[in-house]
Amino acid sequence: MKRDRLKKNSRMKISLAWALLTTVSLWQSIGVAQEQPYTILISFDGFRWDYIDRGYSPNLQHLAEDGARTLSLKPVFPSKTFPNHYTIVTGQYSEGHGLIANNYNDPFSGERYSLRDQQAVREAKWYLGEAFWETAERQGVRSASYFWPGSEMNLSYRRASYFHHYEHERPYEARVQGVLDWLQLPDAQRPRFITLYFDAVDGAGHWFGPDAPETNSAIARVDSMLGMLVDGLQRLGLREQTNVIVVSDHGMTDIDSTRTIWVDDLLGDLECDIEDRGPLMLLTPQNASVDEVYQVLKKSENRFRVYTRETMPENFHFARHPFIPPVVLLADIGWSLATHDRPVGGKGHHGFDPNHLDMHGIFYANGPSFKKGYRSGTIHNIDIYPLLCAIYGIEPRLNIDGRLERVEFLLAK
Ligand code: AMP
Ligand code: ZN
Ligand code: ZN
Repeated sequence: MKRDRLKKNSRMKISLAWALLTTVSLWQSIGVAQEQPYTILISFDGFRWDYIDRGYSPNLQHLAEDGARTLSLKPVFPSKTFPNHYTIVTGQYSEGHGLIANNYNDPFSGERYSLRDQQAVREAKWYLGEAFWETAERQGVRSASYFWPGSEMNLSYRRASYFHHYEHERPYEARVQGVLDWLQLPDAQRPRFITLYFDAVDGAGHWFGPDAPETNSAIARVDSMLGMLVDGLQRLGLREQTNVIVVSDHGMTDIDSTRTIWVDDLLGDLECDIEDRGPLMLLTPQNASVDEVYQVLKKSENRFRVYTRETMPENFHFARHPFIPPVVLLADIGWSLATHDRPVGGKGHHGFDPNHLDMHGIFYANGPSFKKGYRSGTIHNIDIYPLLCAIYGIEPRLNIDGRLERVEFLLAK
Protein backbone atom coordinates (compact mmCIF):
# COMPACT_ATOMS: atom_id res chain seq x y z
CA MET A 1 0.00 0.00 0.00
CA LYS A 2 2.70 2.45 1.18
CA ARG A 3 4.85 1.64 -1.83
CA ASP A 4 1.87 2.25 -4.12
CA ARG A 5 1.26 5.65 -2.56
CA LEU A 6 4.95 6.53 -2.92
CA LYS A 7 4.85 5.53 -6.58
CA LYS A 8 1.71 7.61 -7.08
CA ASN A 9 3.36 10.57 -5.33
CA SER A 10 6.45 10.45 -7.48
CA ARG A 11 4.31 10.06 -10.63
CA MET A 12 2.42 13.21 -9.59
CA LYS A 13 5.68 15.04 -8.96
CA ILE A 14 6.97 14.05 -12.39
CA SER A 15 3.81 15.17 -14.15
CA LEU A 16 3.80 18.45 -12.17
CA ALA A 17 7.41 19.06 -13.16
CA TRP A 18 6.52 18.21 -16.77
CA ALA A 19 3.57 20.62 -16.72
CA LEU A 20 5.82 23.35 -15.29
CA LEU A 21 8.46 22.66 -17.92
CA THR A 22 6.02 22.80 -20.83
CA THR A 23 4.43 25.98 -19.46
CA VAL A 24 7.84 27.61 -19.19
CA SER A 25 8.82 26.55 -22.70
CA LEU A 26 5.44 27.67 -24.02
CA TRP A 27 5.99 31.09 -22.48
CA GLN A 28 9.51 31.12 -23.82
CA SER A 29 8.26 30.36 -27.31
CA ILE A 30 5.60 33.05 -27.02
CA GLY A 31 8.33 35.36 -25.79
CA VAL A 32 10.46 34.51 -28.83
CA ALA A 33 7.49 35.07 -31.13
CA GLN A 34 6.89 38.46 -29.54
CA GLU A 35 10.51 39.39 -30.10
CA GLN A 36 10.27 38.76 -33.84
CA PRO A 37 10.21 42.12 -35.60
CA TYR A 38 7.63 42.90 -38.24
CA THR A 39 8.93 43.41 -41.77
CA ILE A 40 6.99 44.94 -44.63
CA LEU A 41 8.67 44.45 -48.00
CA ILE A 42 7.24 46.98 -50.45
CA SER A 43 7.89 46.98 -54.17
CA PHE A 44 7.53 50.14 -56.24
CA ASP A 45 7.73 48.51 -59.67
CA GLY A 46 10.12 50.29 -62.05
CA PHE A 47 11.31 52.89 -59.50
CA ARG A 48 14.73 53.82 -60.86
CA TRP A 49 17.60 54.33 -58.40
CA ASP A 50 17.73 58.10 -58.93
CA TYR A 51 13.99 58.92 -58.78
CA ILE A 52 14.22 59.53 -55.04
CA ASP A 53 16.20 62.72 -55.60
CA ARG A 54 13.51 64.41 -57.70
CA GLY A 55 11.66 65.79 -54.72
CA TYR A 56 8.36 63.98 -55.33
CA SER A 57 8.72 61.38 -52.60
CA PRO A 58 9.14 63.03 -49.17
CA ASN A 59 8.05 59.91 -47.25
CA LEU A 60 10.54 57.72 -49.07
CA GLN A 61 13.27 60.31 -48.61
CA HIS A 62 12.68 60.44 -44.89
CA LEU A 63 12.57 56.64 -44.61
CA ALA A 64 15.82 56.29 -46.59
CA GLU A 65 17.74 59.08 -44.84
CA ASP A 66 16.69 57.89 -41.41
CA GLY A 67 17.49 54.23 -42.13
CA ALA A 68 19.87 52.30 -44.38
CA ARG A 69 19.98 53.78 -47.86
CA THR A 70 21.83 52.06 -50.70
CA LEU A 71 22.90 53.85 -53.86
CA SER A 72 21.08 51.36 -56.08
CA LEU A 73 19.80 47.81 -56.32
CA LYS A 74 21.25 45.80 -59.18
CA PRO A 75 18.73 43.51 -60.87
CA VAL A 76 19.41 40.13 -62.42
CA PHE A 77 19.17 39.35 -66.11
CA PRO A 78 16.67 39.87 -67.66
CA SER A 79 15.81 43.17 -65.93
CA LYS A 80 12.09 42.42 -66.05
CA THR A 81 9.36 42.29 -63.43
CA PHE A 82 8.70 38.61 -62.76
CA PRO A 83 12.28 37.31 -62.87
CA ASN A 84 13.42 40.07 -60.49
CA HIS A 85 10.57 39.98 -58.00
CA TYR A 86 11.10 36.24 -57.68
CA THR A 87 14.86 36.75 -57.31
CA ILE A 88 14.27 39.22 -54.48
CA VAL A 89 12.29 36.64 -52.48
CA THR A 90 14.36 33.55 -53.41
CA GLY A 91 17.98 34.78 -53.57
CA GLN A 92 18.48 33.01 -56.89
CA TYR A 93 19.29 34.05 -60.45
CA SER A 94 16.46 33.49 -62.90
CA GLU A 95 18.18 30.44 -64.44
CA GLY A 96 17.97 28.85 -60.98
CA HIS A 97 14.52 29.91 -59.75
CA GLY A 98 12.87 29.20 -63.08
CA LEU A 99 11.08 32.48 -63.93
CA ILE A 100 13.28 33.26 -66.92
CA ALA A 101 10.99 35.99 -68.35
CA ASN A 102 7.51 37.48 -67.95
CA ASN A 103 6.27 35.19 -70.73
CA TYR A 104 7.91 32.00 -72.03
CA ASN A 105 7.27 28.44 -73.15
CA ASP A 106 8.15 25.04 -71.79
CA PRO A 107 9.45 23.59 -75.08
CA PHE A 108 9.07 20.04 -73.77
CA SER A 109 5.38 20.11 -72.80
CA GLY A 110 4.29 23.05 -74.92
CA GLU A 111 2.81 24.73 -71.82
CA ARG A 112 3.14 28.47 -71.52
CA TYR A 113 3.91 30.79 -68.61
CA SER A 114 2.60 34.32 -68.84
CA LEU A 115 2.18 37.01 -66.21
CA ARG A 116 -1.23 37.75 -67.72
CA ASP A 117 -2.45 34.13 -67.46
CA GLN A 118 -4.14 33.60 -64.07
CA GLN A 119 -3.93 29.82 -64.32
CA ALA A 120 -0.24 29.80 -65.25
CA VAL A 121 0.87 32.15 -62.46
CA ARG A 122 -0.79 29.83 -59.94
CA GLU A 123 0.85 26.69 -61.34
CA ALA A 124 3.61 25.59 -58.95
CA LYS A 125 5.62 23.76 -61.62
CA TRP A 126 7.17 27.02 -62.89
CA TYR A 127 8.55 28.09 -59.52
CA LEU A 128 11.78 26.27 -58.69
CA GLY A 129 12.91 28.65 -55.96
CA GLU A 130 11.86 28.76 -52.35
CA ALA A 131 10.31 32.13 -51.62
CA PHE A 132 11.13 33.77 -48.30
CA TRP A 133 7.56 33.26 -47.07
CA GLU A 134 7.99 29.49 -47.50
CA THR A 135 11.28 29.49 -45.58
CA ALA A 136 9.72 31.75 -42.94
CA GLU A 137 6.47 29.83 -42.42
CA ARG A 138 8.35 26.54 -42.08
CA GLN A 139 10.46 28.07 -39.31
CA GLY A 140 7.66 29.69 -37.36
CA VAL A 141 7.46 33.16 -38.92
CA ARG A 142 3.91 33.79 -40.08
CA SER A 143 3.76 35.62 -43.41
CA ALA A 144 1.34 37.42 -45.69
CA SER A 145 1.46 38.78 -49.22
CA TYR A 146 -0.53 41.64 -50.67
CA PHE A 147 0.62 40.79 -54.18
CA TRP A 148 4.03 39.53 -55.32
CA PRO A 149 4.96 37.38 -58.29
CA GLY A 150 4.96 33.77 -57.10
CA SER A 151 2.69 34.41 -54.12
CA GLU A 152 -0.43 32.75 -55.54
CA MET A 153 0.85 29.23 -56.10
CA ASN A 154 -1.77 26.51 -55.98
CA LEU A 155 0.12 24.55 -53.32
CA SER A 156 -0.87 25.88 -49.91
CA TYR A 157 2.37 24.75 -48.26
CA ARG A 158 4.32 26.98 -50.63
CA ARG A 159 2.24 30.07 -49.89
CA ALA A 160 2.14 32.62 -47.09
CA SER A 161 -0.63 32.17 -44.49
CA TYR A 162 -2.49 35.09 -46.08
CA PHE A 163 -2.42 36.21 -49.72
CA HIS A 164 -4.53 37.81 -52.45
CA HIS A 165 -4.90 36.91 -56.09
CA TYR A 166 -3.42 39.71 -58.18
CA GLU A 167 -5.88 42.37 -59.20
CA HIS A 168 -4.34 45.15 -61.24
CA GLU A 169 -7.13 47.62 -60.47
CA ARG A 170 -7.30 47.02 -56.70
CA PRO A 171 -7.18 50.56 -55.21
CA TYR A 172 -3.87 51.33 -53.58
CA GLU A 173 -5.53 52.49 -50.36
CA ALA A 174 -7.25 49.11 -50.06
CA ARG A 175 -3.87 47.37 -50.34
CA VAL A 176 -2.37 49.47 -47.54
CA GLN A 177 -5.48 49.05 -45.40
CA GLY A 178 -5.32 45.29 -46.02
CA VAL A 179 -1.79 45.21 -44.61
CA LEU A 180 -2.84 47.29 -41.58
CA ASP A 181 -5.78 44.92 -41.02
CA TRP A 182 -3.43 41.92 -40.95
CA LEU A 183 -1.38 43.74 -38.33
CA GLN A 184 -4.44 44.02 -36.09
CA LEU A 185 -5.12 40.29 -35.99
CA PRO A 186 -4.74 38.57 -32.61
CA ASP A 187 -1.06 38.10 -31.85
CA ALA A 188 -0.92 34.37 -32.63
CA GLN A 189 -2.47 34.88 -36.09
CA ARG A 190 -0.71 38.12 -36.94
CA PRO A 191 1.83 37.92 -39.77
CA ARG A 192 5.39 39.07 -39.04
CA PHE A 193 6.52 39.30 -42.68
CA ILE A 194 4.34 41.00 -45.29
CA THR A 195 4.82 41.93 -48.97
CA LEU A 196 3.08 44.80 -50.73
CA TYR A 197 3.20 45.86 -54.39
CA PHE A 198 2.46 48.98 -56.49
CA ASP A 199 2.81 49.15 -60.28
CA ALA A 200 2.13 52.83 -61.10
CA VAL A 201 5.70 54.07 -61.55
CA ASP A 202 6.51 51.29 -64.02
CA GLY A 203 3.35 51.93 -66.05
CA ALA A 204 3.97 55.67 -66.30
CA GLY A 205 7.64 55.10 -67.16
CA HIS A 206 6.65 52.85 -70.07
CA TRP A 207 3.98 55.14 -71.50
CA PHE A 208 5.42 58.58 -70.91
CA GLY A 209 9.14 57.95 -70.36
CA PRO A 210 11.24 58.12 -67.18
CA ASP A 211 11.53 61.92 -67.24
CA ALA A 212 7.87 62.73 -67.92
CA PRO A 213 5.69 64.68 -65.47
CA GLU A 214 3.30 61.70 -65.42
CA THR A 215 6.11 59.54 -64.04
CA ASN A 216 6.78 62.13 -61.34
CA SER A 217 3.06 62.07 -60.44
CA ALA A 218 3.24 58.28 -60.16
CA ILE A 219 6.26 58.64 -57.86
CA ALA A 220 4.23 61.02 -55.68
CA ARG A 221 1.27 58.62 -55.70
CA VAL A 222 3.17 55.56 -54.48
CA ASP A 223 5.01 57.76 -51.99
CA SER A 224 1.71 58.86 -50.46
CA MET A 225 0.87 55.17 -49.98
CA LEU A 226 4.11 54.74 -48.05
CA GLY A 227 3.01 57.71 -45.93
CA MET A 228 -0.37 56.10 -45.28
CA LEU A 229 1.32 52.86 -44.24
CA VAL A 230 3.79 54.50 -41.87
CA ASP A 231 1.02 56.61 -40.29
CA GLY A 232 -1.01 53.45 -39.81
CA LEU A 233 1.92 51.67 -38.17
CA GLN A 234 2.35 54.60 -35.83
CA ARG A 235 -1.34 54.59 -34.88
CA LEU A 236 -1.15 50.85 -34.13
CA GLY A 237 1.93 51.44 -31.98
CA LEU A 238 3.97 49.11 -34.20
CA ARG A 239 6.33 51.52 -35.97
CA GLU A 240 9.26 50.91 -33.61
CA GLN A 241 9.07 47.14 -34.08
CA THR A 242 8.63 47.22 -37.84
CA ASN A 243 11.22 47.11 -40.60
CA VAL A 244 9.90 48.87 -43.68
CA ILE A 245 11.94 47.86 -46.72
CA VAL A 246 11.22 49.58 -50.03
CA VAL A 247 12.65 47.95 -53.14
CA SER A 248 12.12 47.99 -56.88
CA ASP A 249 12.64 45.27 -59.43
CA HIS A 250 14.47 47.36 -62.08
CA GLY A 251 14.77 50.89 -63.42
CA MET A 252 13.70 52.45 -66.71
CA THR A 253 15.34 54.17 -69.68
CA ASP A 254 14.19 56.30 -72.62
CA ILE A 255 13.29 54.60 -75.87
CA ASP A 256 11.80 55.98 -79.07
CA SER A 257 10.63 54.43 -82.31
CA THR A 258 13.49 55.89 -84.36
CA ARG A 259 15.88 53.58 -82.48
CA THR A 260 14.41 50.29 -83.68
CA ILE A 261 16.19 47.17 -84.94
CA TRP A 262 13.89 45.28 -87.33
CA VAL A 263 14.80 41.69 -86.62
CA ASP A 264 12.51 40.17 -89.28
CA ASP A 265 14.46 42.13 -91.94
CA LEU A 266 17.71 40.71 -90.60
CA LEU A 267 16.39 37.16 -90.53
CA GLY A 268 15.11 37.17 -94.14
CA ASP A 269 13.89 33.65 -94.90
CA LEU A 270 14.98 32.23 -91.58
CA GLU A 271 11.90 31.50 -89.51
CA CYS A 272 11.98 31.74 -85.74
CA ASP A 273 9.52 31.54 -82.92
CA ILE A 274 9.91 34.97 -81.35
CA GLU A 275 9.21 35.76 -77.72
CA ASP A 276 9.18 39.34 -76.42
CA ARG A 277 9.95 42.61 -78.19
CA GLY A 278 11.84 45.64 -76.92
CA PRO A 279 15.20 45.45 -75.11
CA LEU A 280 15.22 41.68 -75.31
CA MET A 281 14.18 39.05 -77.82
CA LEU A 282 14.16 35.28 -77.33
CA LEU A 283 14.35 33.21 -80.51
CA THR A 284 13.76 29.55 -81.28
CA PRO A 285 14.74 28.75 -84.90
CA GLN A 286 12.10 26.84 -86.88
CA ASN A 287 13.40 26.14 -90.37
CA ALA A 288 17.13 26.52 -89.70
CA SER A 289 19.74 25.46 -87.20
CA VAL A 290 20.66 27.54 -84.16
CA ASP A 291 24.08 28.10 -85.68
CA GLU A 292 22.67 29.42 -88.98
CA VAL A 293 20.45 31.90 -87.18
CA TYR A 294 23.30 32.86 -84.85
CA GLN A 295 25.75 33.45 -87.72
CA VAL A 296 23.29 35.58 -89.72
CA LEU A 297 22.45 37.76 -86.74
CA LYS A 298 26.06 37.90 -85.60
CA LYS A 299 27.06 39.38 -88.98
CA SER A 300 24.47 42.13 -88.66
CA GLU A 301 25.18 42.78 -84.98
CA ASN A 302 24.71 46.52 -84.71
CA ARG A 303 23.10 48.20 -81.71
CA PHE A 304 22.37 44.77 -80.27
CA ARG A 305 24.13 41.58 -79.18
CA VAL A 306 23.30 38.01 -80.10
CA TYR A 307 24.00 35.15 -77.70
CA THR A 308 23.62 31.41 -77.61
CA ARG A 309 23.89 29.34 -74.45
CA GLU A 310 27.61 28.94 -75.14
CA THR A 311 28.34 32.62 -75.71
CA MET A 312 26.05 34.06 -73.02
CA PRO A 313 28.11 36.32 -70.70
CA GLU A 314 28.73 34.46 -67.48
CA ASN A 315 27.65 37.40 -65.33
CA PHE A 316 24.11 37.16 -66.79
CA HIS A 317 23.65 33.70 -65.22
CA PHE A 318 21.22 32.94 -67.99
CA ALA A 319 22.16 29.65 -69.62
CA ARG A 320 21.39 26.78 -67.27
CA HIS A 321 17.60 26.62 -67.35
CA PRO A 322 16.25 24.26 -70.05
CA PHE A 323 13.43 26.64 -71.04
CA ILE A 324 15.82 29.45 -72.07
CA PRO A 325 15.43 29.71 -75.86
CA PRO A 326 18.59 28.92 -77.87
CA VAL A 327 19.14 32.44 -79.27
CA VAL A 328 18.90 35.57 -77.13
CA LEU A 329 19.11 39.10 -78.52
CA LEU A 330 19.86 42.05 -76.26
CA ALA A 331 19.56 45.62 -77.54
CA ASP A 332 22.00 48.38 -76.63
CA ILE A 333 20.58 50.73 -74.04
CA GLY A 334 17.73 52.81 -75.50
CA TRP A 335 17.24 50.63 -78.60
CA SER A 336 14.33 48.29 -79.34
CA LEU A 337 14.21 44.92 -81.06
CA ALA A 338 11.00 44.57 -83.06
CA THR A 339 9.29 42.92 -86.00
CA HIS A 340 7.07 44.76 -88.47
CA ASP A 341 3.97 42.94 -87.21
CA ARG A 342 4.78 44.02 -83.64
CA PRO A 343 6.56 47.37 -83.35
CA VAL A 344 7.50 48.56 -79.90
CA GLY A 345 5.43 51.41 -78.44
CA GLY A 346 5.89 53.70 -75.47
CA LYS A 347 8.68 55.99 -74.35
CA GLY A 348 10.42 53.96 -71.70
CA HIS A 349 11.56 50.37 -71.22
CA HIS A 350 13.64 47.99 -69.12
CA GLY A 351 15.08 44.57 -69.79
CA PHE A 352 18.48 45.90 -70.87
CA ASP A 353 21.84 44.78 -69.46
CA PRO A 354 21.58 44.90 -65.63
CA ASN A 355 25.08 46.42 -65.55
CA HIS A 356 23.62 49.62 -66.99
CA LEU A 357 22.82 52.05 -64.19
CA ASP A 358 19.45 53.00 -65.75
CA MET A 359 18.32 49.42 -65.06
CA HIS A 360 19.09 49.70 -61.34
CA GLY A 361 16.30 49.91 -58.80
CA ILE A 362 16.16 50.91 -55.13
CA PHE A 363 16.72 49.41 -51.70
CA TYR A 364 15.93 51.49 -48.60
CA ALA A 365 15.38 49.86 -45.22
CA ASN A 366 14.23 51.46 -42.01
CA GLY A 367 13.46 49.74 -38.72
CA PRO A 368 14.89 48.01 -35.67
CA SER A 369 17.03 45.55 -37.66
CA PHE A 370 18.78 48.21 -39.73
CA LYS A 371 21.43 50.85 -39.17
CA LYS A 372 20.23 54.40 -38.84
CA GLY A 373 21.36 57.23 -41.08
CA TYR A 374 23.58 54.86 -43.04
CA ARG A 375 24.49 55.07 -46.73
CA SER A 376 26.04 52.32 -48.81
CA GLY A 377 26.91 51.70 -52.44
CA THR A 378 25.06 49.42 -54.82
CA ILE A 379 23.83 46.06 -53.56
CA HIS A 380 22.57 43.05 -55.55
CA ASN A 381 18.98 41.91 -55.33
CA ILE A 382 20.05 38.24 -55.01
CA ASP A 383 21.32 39.13 -51.53
CA ILE A 384 17.97 40.29 -50.10
CA TYR A 385 16.70 36.78 -49.32
CA PRO A 386 19.60 35.87 -46.99
CA LEU A 387 19.27 39.34 -45.42
CA LEU A 388 15.60 38.62 -44.61
CA CYS A 389 16.61 35.26 -43.12
CA ALA A 390 19.18 37.03 -40.93
CA ILE A 391 16.55 39.47 -39.62
CA TYR A 392 14.55 36.52 -38.27
CA GLY A 393 17.51 34.30 -37.39
CA ILE A 394 16.20 31.52 -39.61
CA GLU A 395 18.07 29.15 -41.90
CA PRO A 396 18.14 30.10 -45.59
CA ARG A 397 17.59 27.42 -48.18
CA LEU A 398 20.79 25.73 -49.34
CA ASN A 399 22.35 26.45 -52.73
CA ILE A 400 21.08 29.96 -53.23
CA ASP A 401 23.08 32.57 -55.15
CA GLY A 402 22.70 35.36 -52.58
CA ARG A 403 25.29 35.91 -49.84
CA LEU A 404 24.60 37.48 -46.48
CA GLU A 405 28.20 38.66 -46.11
CA ARG A 406 27.73 41.11 -49.00
CA VAL A 407 24.88 42.98 -47.25
CA GLU A 408 25.28 42.18 -43.55
CA PHE A 409 26.80 45.62 -42.95
CA LEU A 410 23.32 47.15 -43.39
CA LEU A 411 22.09 45.42 -40.24
CA ALA A 412 22.21 47.02 -36.81
CA LYS A 413 24.36 45.13 -34.31
P1 AMP B 1 6.77 44.48 -67.01
O1 AMP B 1 6.20 44.05 -68.32
O2 AMP B 1 8.02 43.72 -66.72
O3 AMP B 1 6.94 45.95 -66.93
O4 AMP B 1 5.69 44.04 -65.91
C1 AMP B 1 4.95 44.95 -65.11
C2 AMP B 1 3.57 44.47 -64.94
O5 AMP B 1 3.53 43.25 -64.21
C3 AMP B 1 2.68 45.38 -64.12
O6 AMP B 1 2.08 46.36 -64.88
C4 AMP B 1 1.64 44.44 -63.52
O7 AMP B 1 0.47 44.51 -64.26
C5 AMP B 1 2.24 43.08 -63.71
N1 AMP B 1 2.29 42.38 -62.43
C6 AMP B 1 3.01 42.70 -61.34
N2 AMP B 1 2.82 41.83 -60.33
C7 AMP B 1 1.94 40.92 -60.77
C8 AMP B 1 1.35 39.77 -60.20
N3 AMP B 1 1.63 39.38 -58.95
N4 AMP B 1 0.51 39.06 -60.98
C9 AMP B 1 0.23 39.43 -62.24
N5 AMP B 1 0.76 40.52 -62.83
C10 AMP B 1 1.60 41.26 -62.11
ZN1 ZN C 1 8.77 45.71 -63.14
ZN1 ZN D 1 7.73 47.43 -66.85
